[in-house]
Amino acid sequence: MALIVQKYGGTSVGSAERIRNVARRVAKWRAAGHDLVVVPSAMAGETNRLIGLAKEIQPQPDPRELDVVAATGEQVTIGLLSMALLELGLKAKSYSGWQVKISTDSAFTKARITTIEDTAIRRDLAAGTVVVVAGFQGVDQAGNITTLGRGGSDTSAVALAAALKASECQIFTDVDGVYTTDPRIVPEARRLRTVTFEEMLEMAGAGSKVLQIRSVEFAGKYRVPTRVLSSLTDPMMPVAEEAQAGTLITFEEDPIMAMEKAVISGVAFNRDEAKITVHDVPDRPGIAYAILGPIADASIDVDVIVQNVGHDGMTDMTFTVHRNDYAKAMKILKTQVQPHIKCRDISGDERIAKVSIVGMGMRSHAGIAAQMFRTLAEEGINIQMISTSEIKITVVIEEKYTELAVRVLHKAFELEQA
Ligand code: ASP
Ligand code: MG
Repeated sequence: MALIVQKYGGTSVGSAERIRNVARRVAKWRAAGHDLVVVPSAMAGETNRLIGLAKEIQPQPDPRELDVVAATGEQVTIGLLSMALLELGLKAKSYSGWQVKISTDSAFTKARITTIEDTAIRRDLAAGTVVVVAGFQGVDQAGNITTLGRGGSDTSAVALAAALKASECQIFTDVDGVYTTDPRIVPEARRLRTVTFEEMLEMAGAGSKVLQIRSVEFAGKYRVPTRVLSSLTDPMMPVAEEAQAGTLITFEEDPIMAMEKAVISGVAFNRDEAKITVHDVPDRPGIAYAILGPIADASIDVDVIVQNVGHDGMTDMTFTVHRNDYAKAMKILKTQVQPHIKCRDISGDERIAKVSIVGMGMRSHAGIAAQMFRTLAEEGINIQMISTSEIKITVVIEEKYTELAVRVLHKAFELEQA
């Protein structure tokens, strides 16, 4: 008998019938003797609809009020799911974020969880009740409703699992695990049976949308065994089988698995970025700060950064930002930065994509970068920027080559082979 936290994504609770299926699945785990905390997202499309409504009223919605609106999607599903469980004869009870309570900071629309009160949940679990907690939402110190950023119910679930020291956090979604790449682009993409937490973190950062990156950070920090699996399978699939399904995020690489595993675990990509170059800036101390400081002050995240070797006392600096922040970043550079640093020009390109290969095996294998660059060269794909970590190599390329690059890299690193 163990405590399990299960999260169900928007598709999984997208209709009354699907909610009933979730209830059946939960009841099955309960019947196997486990304690269950269940965290649903809002019904598919609902959060988009709510944000759209807010924008009809106020084009730039007030962040506090936007969270009041956006958090309602999950309030609907916790109630409906609890009812479905009650209908099956189980004891069930729903909690909003503030009822639990899940405390966060006050960064509306992207709040971070600070603490979770577990008293009420533990009391209910001890009484044999299935506890249904709203994902995506919390409450700040002043009592304001907050939300955790898009995809945030993954983080709610992993954080609850950490706080309750659950034996596993199961993320049920509309895919049956983490794949070597997006199967819509590469039909031969394979489901990974395990992936290390470090790889998952890099994949999430590189554009894989399976888990919200903060949930992976939580899983890593508190060592929460987390499994991604499908909610679209037969809900009555035997528990023993389901316990082995999907992709398990691990903390140490199993040495035997590691030997069998390919050097690269996955190819991730991201088309949501834009590139900005500041040309011919004086090559002196403080210049990177002069350029990127004002960007950071505007809460714009900067990703790949490249500064060239200086020539004649001058250098170029190029970096990427999220495409949504592109116009804002350009404006800051032109109005706040250019007048002070006297650069020759500022140029930008929104038609870029980031393609990354990720794998623990990179640490012990030489020549992976060269193989990646050769593969892209053979297709005539120009690499505009390169950045690396210990287990990831990222290139920035022209957006129109994204799918081609992903396909050829997947093949070059033999990811289709089990
Ligand atoms: N409902 C929220 C969203 O659509 C949170 C989530 O689904 O994880 O972003
Ligand atoms: Mg999601």
